[in-house]
Amino acid sequence: MLKRVKVENYLLVHLGLRPCSLTTLPAELPGAEGLGRSIDERILPRMRHLSSIGDPEKRLKTIEALKNEMRKAYRDVVEASQQYRGHLEWARKLGLRTLQFEVRPTVRELYLFRDKALEKRLENLIRERVRIREETLSHPPKGLGRAHLVYPEEFKGGWVSEMGELYGYPKCCVERYASDRENNISVEERAARQLKEAEEKGEAESLAYFVSYFFPCHPRCPSAISTGKRYLEELQKVDPRLGEIYTSILRENLDLVRRQPEIIARHRAMAEEAMQRIHKQPP
Ligand SMILES: [Zn+2]
Repeated sequence: MLKRVKVENYLLVHLGLRPCSLTTLPAELPGAEGLGRSIDERILPRMRHLSSIGDPEKRLKTIEALKNEMRKAYRDVVEASQQYRGHLEWARKLGLRTLQFEVRPTVRELYLFRDKALEKRLENLIRERVRIREETLSHPPKGLGRAHLVYPEEFKGGWVSEMGELYGYPKCCVERYASDRENNISVEERAARQLKEAEEKGEAESLAYFVSYFFPCHPRCPSAISTGKRYLEELQKVDPRLGEIYTSILRENLDLVRRQPEIIARHRAMAEEAMQRIHKQPP
């Protein structure tokens, strides 16, 4: 298990500090690249045939069959892996409830929480997201950016606030996130810029970056910093070494926010390149 996942997604929920966490599978498993490659090796050769099918009906059928192949590949590769089983085993040992959701045929979200009552809320939010996505795809409003089409729920303030609450994010930071999204401001770029400015003034504080992929409304946000401080103190109480580990995770999280715009640009370029490769290769 990745150190970061162990602390942020398992321990903090187990200790009752965060209501819920999200781990994306297989991306956040150790050896994710190898698992992804094994899935690709099975699927890519079949995808290449797709572009040569002209008949729409035949094409749809092939896509459906392909999706089932992908699900099977996910089961054979990811669910059979030791790392995946280890994650479920640790959830069980720590008394964490799990909820899994298929985002795409080869991607699952693993939600961890303790409180049974949270399950209903989570299920409703996931259902709501499916509805928002379907609605956006069937009637895409004009002039939407790419992120808006792929993650339309992130542009619905109510949905974002509720999800943020479940992840244990401060209200002010969630509100800023939602308003940025609604105003077409890139949250990642905004957060990276704020952080660089704070670092230049020597005001950056890694406690504000208390879990990865969380973006504080400001690098000096009092709520975010006090959340990080509380987590650190509680982990130190369990074991001082855990406090040291968490301190290094905080620094990594801060670093990740600084580099986020580059990381997104690189992923986008890689995805485009992969798509071109699929389409260019002869069937
Ligand atoms: Zn805040």
